[in-house]
Amino acid sequence: MDLKLFNTLSGSKEIFQPLVPGQVSIYTCGPTVYSDAHIGNLRSYVFPDVLKKTLRRLGYRVNHVINITDVGHLASDADEGEDKMERAARDKGATAWELAALYTERFKEDIRRLHVDPPDNMPKATDHIPEQIALIQTLEQKNFVYRTQDGIYFDTARLPDYGKLARLDTQGLREGSRVARGEKMNKTDFALWKFSPPGVRRQMEWDSPWGRGFPGWHIECSAMAMKYLGDLFDIHTGGKDHIPVHHTNEIAQSEAAVGHPFVRYWLHGEFLVVDSTRDGGERMGKSEGNFLRLQEVIDRGFDPLSYRYLVLNSHYRKFLHFSWDSLKAAETALMGLRRLVREVPWPGNNLNDPTNSAFRDELLADLCDDLNTPKALATLWTTLKNPLISPSEKGGVAALAEELLCLGLNDFSGLDQVQSVPVGVETLARKRLAAREDGNWGESDRLRDEIARLGYQVRDIKGGYELEKSKL
Ligand code: AMP
Ligand code: ZN
Repeated sequence: MDLKLFNTLSGSKEIFQPLVPGQVSIYTCGPTVYSDAHIGNLRSYVFPDVLKKTLRRLGYRVNHVINITDVGHLASDADEGEDKMERAARDKGATAWELAALYTERFKEDIRRLHVDPPDNMPKATDHIPEQIALIQTLEQKNFVYRTQDGIYFDTARLPDYGKLARLDTQGLREGSRVARGEKMNKTDFALWKFSPPGVRRQMEWDSPWGRGFPGWHIECSAMAMKYLGDLFDIHTGGKDHIPVHHTNEIAQSEAAVGHPFVRYWLHGEFLVVDSTRDGGERMGKSEGNFLRLQEVIDRGFDPLSYRYLVLNSHYRKFLHFSWDSLKAAETALMGLRRLVREVPWPGNNLNDPTNSAFRDELLADLCDDLNTPKALATLWTTLKNPLISPSEKGGVAALAEELLCLGLNDFSGLDQVQSVPVGVETLARKRLAAREDGNWGESDRLRDEIARLGYQVRDIKGGYELEKSKL
């Protein structure tokens, strides 16, 4: 079966062809570990996980790298502002090294709870300073770099196809940017190595042939990708904010250094957004003030896999609108699936039994169509609900779904304790929220009492409410 992937580079779905038969190399830009990841960040690790599991099912051996960015990611993509790690260290009263160690562990724990397979390698930028310096030296030998007062920069004007991934209007950018570019020769030029500010001793800094300082964020990914996957590899993934700057610059410096293409397929995930008064919602971001951690989802009583279900129920290239209601709906759906799976025999390791291959092929075909996870979930639902399909066939489809989507479909623990809130109670709680928003406190109290009579307690939380079954 062919696997089709949407390649940002060509702007179209392409049939995946590996560089080496039977093997696939994937690099995923990892977290900047100055704080916990938010659930939007985590979305960007779920789709490469489904990709990996689909590739394995198709018979490929997969080598996957997720890096850890623990230095050099500045507050602004334009190589300005403080290093996020150093700033967080100052704000939180810990060293940058301590923060990096803490949040790297927390990231590993978050992806584990989301059933994202650990990558084969998780290299840290700070462990690869010599590789980054060597790559900058190669660029220097090839005359792609120049020096300013604050660092060593890449001259993007020397690459005729600079900006091809994002289809940047480089000419327009250059002409319109004479004021904004400061000492840079072109606005799109970017730092490969930044000098420690004069008189300042950074927590993370290294000697280099150009002076004491630290690497730029983009060079980290090129150096680590090349070390673990080679200077041409199959697939690179990340969130779509990386297209115009980070990945554009990774391509520029890597291709300038090696003289040939760097990556065959570039895959980008769309944002998780939170519903807001703005059209289309607002991107969840560490600096946007709408940051939600996986731990908070768990603290509210949700199974983290309900969040995975919510993520898989949207295509990775579409916006995912997060709300507590949508998460609740995802949890209800996941519990419903597990109940259906409980009714059928789990096939153990006879997944390759040909008798039920047609239904399983359909599910795999959904994922081979640019990782159409919502379609795969729909196929699973219709299969499990179809009275004409035998229980053993259903079991085979469920087991394949579990292998590829990893939703804990055969985890029946706690299924019987879960009680969904009756629709009538939910409606009353919504009416009460509207009454509170209108300042109608009398009506709000009356509705709270009515909800209590139906056996539920309503609690106010920021922007909404929570319902809990009253304890006897
Ligand atoms: P960072 O830790 O900021 O380097 O980001 C880690 C990953 O999360 C990157 O691939 C980003 O593109 C991605 N990302 C950031 N915000 C969101 C969001 N709201 N939804 C989905 N992915 C995101
Ligand atoms: Zn990266």
